[in-house]
Amino acid sequence: MQMMHYQINFHRINHIFISHLHGDHYLGLMGLIFTMQLQHRSNDLHLYCHDGLDEILITQFRHSRFMPEYEIHYHKLQPNESKVIYEDDALTVQTIPLVHAIPCSGFLFREKVKPRRIDKRVLPAGLSAQQLVGLKAGKDVVDDKGSIAYRNSDLTLPPRRSRAYAYCSDTAFTETLLPHLQDVDLLYHEATFMLDEESKARETLHSTAYDAATIAKAASVQKLLLGHFSARYKDLDPLLREAQDVFPNAALATEGETYIVEE
Ligand SMILES: [Zn+2]
Ligand SMILES: [Zn+2]
Repeated sequence: MQMMHYQINFHRINHIFISHLHGDHYLGLMGLIFTMQLQHRSNDLHLYCHDGLDEILITQFRHSRFMPEYEIHYHKLQPNESKVIYEDDALTVQTIPLVHAIPCSGFLFREKVKPRRIDKRVLPAGLSAQQLVGLKAGKDVVDDKGSIAYRNSDLTLPPRRSRAYAYCSDTAFTETLLPHLQDVDLLYHEATFMLDEESKARETLHSTAYDAATIAKAASVQKLLLGHFSARYKDLDPLLREAQDVFPNAALATEGETYIVEE
């Protein structure tokens, strides 16, 4: 319903990454699967989750005598390992083991090195498609005799930056995250509580805003997004300030908001 509200096109979604099987992280999935069917989806759908999701969904399909006409692929995550679970031409997705009451994984989305950009202002006419592909890959243009006709550096601009986004929810404070998060552009880290409820955070295997900021600072990330707030905090400004005292470039993850990571 929120995706409809924010006009997100369901057809563009082919891969769904679910951190763990607490209800607040996946109970909307059945509705989404059903709505995709109503919208005559035909593309395969890939679901990434720990053991049990397939059983839960298949039980619901059976009792409602509903079976989507598109294919669903279940990719089982192993909670204790960091592994590339998805890869295409542009990016990889790798799991990050989190510390929580049930098996739980974060996800690191990392863009691959991008091609060099052809500088159209100086590009000579008449280059072949193959030569243009070569330029993007960093090669010089050579003539029939094999000598350099144009240097790559004269016709291309450096690639755009490859960005990385890490999603860590839900988790207790743990420095085991640090090697995975080093220098990422954007870190989403849960901040269920504030320091005044630290014992509650430890007990329920969640983090405080202070914890999230401490991790962001130690991993030298560019920007921190805080989320997964306890309903007890009606006003989130104190929570944000608690994080910003440790790590200034922090923001609250607000539903419907878009956060741009510059290339
Ligand atoms: Zn949870
Ligand atoms: Zn949760």
